[in-house]
Amino acid sequence: MKLTPEIKSYLYKLNKRYYKSLGIKSTVFPTLCFTVTEFNKIEGPELNKFRKIKNQYGLVCFNKKSCTMFLNVRHHKDVAELYSTLIHEMVHLKHPKLPHGKTFNNKINNIIMSDRY
Ligand SMILES: [Zn+2]
Repeated sequence: MKLTPEIKSYLYKLNKRYYKSLGIKSTVFPTLCFTVTEFNKIEGPELNKFRKIKNQYGLVCFNKKSCTMFLNVRHHKDVAELYSTLIHEMVHLKHPKLPHGKTFNNKINNIIMSDRY
């Protein structure tokens, strides 16, 4: 997808909404970035191990002082995919120690369902 101001503002809104509604307290409000170039300009030791990213959909890195959520807009084919990535990264934020798998996917599904019904 192409990164447009509309897409940006949509993602900022989602970011704010889920950060609040999930009651994430473990870290600071996530700063969003949307391109690899943008991501590589952000400084922070917690980001260094992710410098080689290119074809990733998204990631979130955080410590007690900062939190960066990278959503690789160009790598997504539509808004629905971007939405899923953002929710996925929010689950990482909310449950930092939970690995990918069934429980992780259930958390994602719960968020999506509670949002729609
Ligand atoms: Zn993940």
